[in-house]
Amino acid sequence: MSPNQKHIYFGTDKLDRASHLRERTAQLEEMKLTHDAKYVPVYNGRHIYMNQHSSFYRRSNPFDCEAECFLGLVGNQMWYSCPLNDKQAEKLEAEVGKRFASLRRYALKLDDELAHIALYSRGLDLWQRNRKFCPKCGTPNHLSWAGHRLLCQNNHEQFPHIEPAIIVLVTHGNKCLLGRKAEWPTYAYSTLAGFVEPGETIEAAVKREILEESNIQVSNVQYFGSQPWPFPASLMLAFTAEAKNEDIKVDDELEDVQWFTRQQLTEMMKEGYITIAPRYTVAHNLIVNWLESKDA
Ligand SMILES: [Zn+2]
Repeated sequence: MSPNQKHIYFGTDKLDRASHLRERTAQLEEMKLTHDAKYVPVYNGRHIYMNQHSSFYRRSNPFDCEAECFLGLVGNQMWYSCPLNDKQAEKLEAEVGKRFASLRRYALKLDDELAHIALYSRGLDLWQRNRKFCPKCGTPNHLSWAGHRLLCQNNHEQFPHIEPAIIVLVTHGNKCLLGRKAEWPTYAYSTLAGFVEPGETIEAAVKREILEESNIQVSNVQYFGSQPWPFPASLMLAFTAEAKNEDIKVDDELEDVQWFTRQQLTEMMKEGYITIAPRYTVAHNLIVNWLESKDA
């Protein structure tokens, strides 16, 4: 296993989610007397970042948010997210002179632990925001279990919703298959990806998506790793696979799909003719891991 395969950004496991504490409100309050509690303000899935994390989190909860959401423990530190409303967000922005922004903008400035916590708070916040009403009976939901359960007026429960997606590095001999969407930045290429459908295995989703997007049939599907990806609610399941054919046919979803040898891709990246997915994505891990693998 290469270093790239091991280190998937946002995926640190240093946070103990301590899920048994979510229902124990009194115990959580008691713990605050002996633990250091840190609060991450989050607004519409976005955060505020300044140097030295100065506004990324606070050691007390000055935000007056309606519901503190318990994220977990790192050693003796309790971590909470604080979902802010419009007014609270405006106040904080004015106070620090910065705007709430997407994690994508400054992901690599955060250490592993903080990146993971930020991503977690984003996923939880987006789920809560998008579930204001019960999908079964339409009555308003309210938060319980320290932000991890929604309950409507008829006691219908809902829990955070995750959408599994597959992302695949397909190879054929010394070549790999990369594609691009029309709306991506010029020269950006990445591994092919798609959502797992109801009633489908992830292995079948890998084969179907690659065939649909490129006309390439694959075999030897191997699990590579996973990455939480709440943009807005995905879990990326990364694989490698081997192509059985080389004749590409691009479907409507993508603008272009091409085979690249290691040498071509390395030279094109160096000369700026192509950019691959950002360093914080598992697509980047997949591509770099392949470029650096020794069976060239
Ligand atoms: Zn309901």
